[in-house]
Amino acid sequence: MIDFTPAERRIVRKMERLKAEAGSHSPSIFTLRQKLSEVEIRVDACFLSNPYATELFIEYFNREILETGRMRDLMECYPSQNQVIAETLAEFLRVDRRNIFIGNGAIEIIQAVIHNFTKRKVIINIPTFSSYYEYVKDGVEVIYNVLHKEDNYELDVDSYIDLVKEHRPDTIVLINPNNPNGAYTRVSAIRRILEEVPFVDQVIVDESFIHFAYEDDTYGLMSLSHLAAEYPNLVVVKSMSKDFGVAGIRAGYGIMSESRVQSLLRNGYLWNSNGLAEYFFRLYARADFAFRYEEVRVKYILENLQFIEQLKQVEGIKVYPSMANFVLIELPAGIRSADFVAKLLITYGIYVRVCDDKIGLDGQFIRLASRSSTENRYILQSINACLNFTLTKELVNEQVD
Ligand SMILES: *Cc1c(COP(=O)(O)O)cnc(C)c1O
Repeated sequence: MIDFTPAERRIVRKMERLKAEAGSHSPSIFTLRQKLSEVEIRVDACFLSNPYATELFIEYFNREILETGRMRDLMECYPSQNQVIAETLAEFLRVDRRNIFIGNGAIEIIQAVIHNFTKRKVIINIPTFSSYYEYVKDGVEVIYNVLHKEDNYELDVDSYIDLVKEHRPDTIVLINPNNPNGAYTRVSAIRRILEEVPFVDQVIVDESFIHFAYEDDTYGLMSLSHLAAEYPNLVVVKSMSKDFGVAGIRAGYGIMSESRVQSLLRNGYLWNSNGLAEYFFRLYARADFAFRYEEVRVKYILENLQFIEQLKQVEGIKVYPSMANFVLIELPAGIRSADFVAKLLITYGIYVRVCDDKIGLDGQFIRLASRSSTENRYILQSINACLNFTLTKELVNEQVD
C-alpha cells in the first residue's frame, strides 16, 4: 500500500479521471499542465522519445528556419504533395518512391491500412499498441495472440506461424520492438514468418522503435524496409515521433506495394503533411543530418542499456527484457500501479505510464521511458526511494500485526 495525504488522494483521483478521459492513450503533457497545475512535471518518462534527437532537430530548425526567416514559407505555402515528399526519402531509404506513402504520423498510416485493406480477419499480438485493434472496422474478426508472461511477453515464432496457418487471416501485425514491453524479434525470424505465410495479404511490421534495436555491437539499423520489393505483402509502418523525438510535428511513413500506395492516394492524403513535417523529412534524408543523428542514436542506445541494467538491480520490481527505449516494469504485490505512478508524479515530478489498462497484461505494471543520463539517474533514485518507503512501511505493518 502507498500512503497519501487527503490532498494527495484528491490528486490521485484526478489523475485517474484524466487517464480515463484520454481513453487507451495517456493524457498529454499539455493536458496535465493545464488540469493538474498543482503538480510540477520535472521529467516526462511517459513519452518514449530520444531527447538528444529532439535537441539535434531544434538546433537545425533554429539555424535554418527561425534565424533565416524561412518560418514564413512553412506557414504561408502549401507543403509538397505526398508523392513529392516520398521521392525525397526514396534514395535515402533505398526504396522505390512508388512504394512510399507519407503519413501525418504513423497513426494515420495504421488507420489507412487497416480501414482500406483489412477485410476479414486480423491477428494481433497482445499486449500491443491499441490502435491496431481499435481501428478495425465492424465485421472484421480480431484474433488475439496472447504473449505469455512466462515467455517475458516475447513472440514464440513457431507457434505464431502455426496460429497464422490455422486461422488464415488477411492481416497480421508485428510491432518490432513491441510496445508496451520492448521485446524484439530478430530480422531472420521475421523473414521466416514472411516465408511461411505468403497467403496473408498484409504483414504489417511496425518499426516505430527500430532505431533503438540492434543485433550486434556495431548497433547497425535493423529495418526491414529493403524487403518490401521482395515481399509484396509486407507493409512497414514507421513513426518518426519516438526515435527523432518529434511527435508534435506528426511525421511517419509506410513502405508498401505500389498498388496499395496508389489506392490510398486515390482516396485522399494529398497534402496530409505540414510545412514543418516536410522540413523534417527533407532533413532526415540529408547526409549531414543523418551523420549527426547516428551519433545521438548510438549514444542514447548505450545510455539506455546502462539505465535498464541499473533498473534490473532495483529490488522488488521485475524489469522485462527490452530492445526499445523503455521498459515494462511489474510492481511488487500490494502496490497498485495507479498509486505508484501518482506517488512518482506528486513527490518527484516524474510522469510515467500506468499499464494496467493494456489488454493481455496480468498484474500491476508501469512503462518507463529512458531519458537523458541525468534524468535517468534522478528517475532511478526516485523509484528506489518510492519503493523503499512503501516496502519499509509494509515491514513495519507486519511487525505490528
Ligand atoms: C507511437 C506509436 C505509433 C504512432 O506514432 P505517430 O507517428 O506519432 O502517429 C505507432 N505505432 C506504435 C507501435 C507506436 O508506439
